[in-house]
Amino acid sequence: MSTIIEAQDLSRFYEVSRGLFAEPATVRALSEASFSVTEGTTLAVVGESGCGKSTLARLLTMIEPPSAGELVIDGHKLGAASRSELAELRKTVQIVFQDPYGSLNPRQKIGSILEEPLKINTRMPAKERREKAFDMLIRVGLRPEHYARYPHMFSGGQRQRIAIARALMLDPKILILDEPVSALDVSIQAQVLNILADLQEEFGLTYIFISHDLSVVRFVADEVMVMYLGRPVEFAAVTEVFDKPLHPYTVALLSATPVADPRRTRQNIKLEGELPSPISPPSGCPFHPRCRYAREKCSDVLPPMTLHGETWVACHGITDGWIDYSAEPPPASTVAVDELPGDAPEEPGGAVKAPEPGSPV
Ligand code: SF4
Repeated sequence: MSTIIEAQDLSRFYEVSRGLFAEPATVRALSEASFSVTEGTTLAVVGESGCGKSTLARLLTMIEPPSAGELVIDGHKLGAASRSELAELRKTVQIVFQDPYGSLNPRQKIGSILEEPLKINTRMPAKERREKAFDMLIRVGLRPEHYARYPHMFSGGQRQRIAIARALMLDPKILILDEPVSALDVSIQAQVLNILADLQEEFGLTYIFISHDLSVVRFVADEVMVMYLGRPVEFAAVTEVFDKPLHPYTVALLSATPVADPRRTRQNIKLEGELPSPISPPSGCPFHPRCRYAREKCSDVLPPMTLHGETWVACHGITDGWIDYSAEPPPASTVAVDELPGDAPEEPGGAVKAPEPGSPV
């Protein structure tokens, strides 16, 4: 399969006013993000609020241009594309937003909502538009009679299906899914995720799945990019990230994910402090004020993304070798309840035997 998205040092800065007499400040919402996505796969982008996920979504959907770096979508360099090429490319990338209530016009009937992208972007006759809208309703698990109803007549899950149907009306190749199930009940989340999986298989779609919910990410993603303060810090196949997380931030994120198995508990790592301001990010590694493995080098030198095994990671502790999770209870892994003191064979000195690094999450 071929590469459909390629980003090289992609950055987005914003100037913000600091008052009448002060120089404007620069917010570095996204800095030097380099990654590629294979056609027909799902890349999950995860991190705390303010880590740059939504800025990345705006660049990929061409809502905003990058401040620096290069973005190639479906073989077209965006920086060198003409207006007409960009207009065509915008049809290739569509977005589904988090809020299914806010993303649909309450005054428009569903049929009109679905046909609108075709009216604006194509010369398709009305009869064909209508047939396509009916067809898309069925593909997302709704019924043709829903065509004539208004958004308020649907549940949250049904509205999100309508939003997905609208995003597919222009036959895109890439869907940006910006927290698509975060606003839904857990039982409805599974339905929407299954529909997305079916549509991906049917149409060969590529998904960029933006989420802070790692349990959902594990279910949907092929690859995962973890971001912190506007920078990617870890990039790998989903199994690598979940079974053998390397960056201390990824390890802390995973430790905060609920475990479905009641027999298992998890060592919870508390991240100290707040996410720093992107107006004045820390020097060196942006994670160093909150990292329990930080050394002097971390506050001086920005760690580059380097390949460690099958994982790209930006951490001096990993590349220089001073972080060794096997030498301590692995923070991201789980400890079975029946291995706790009283049940488990104990190590000399009474310590509970630590599970191997990379135990299932
Ligand atoms: Fe922690 Fe240093 Fe690695 Fe940053 S570079 S994550 S501060 S060990």
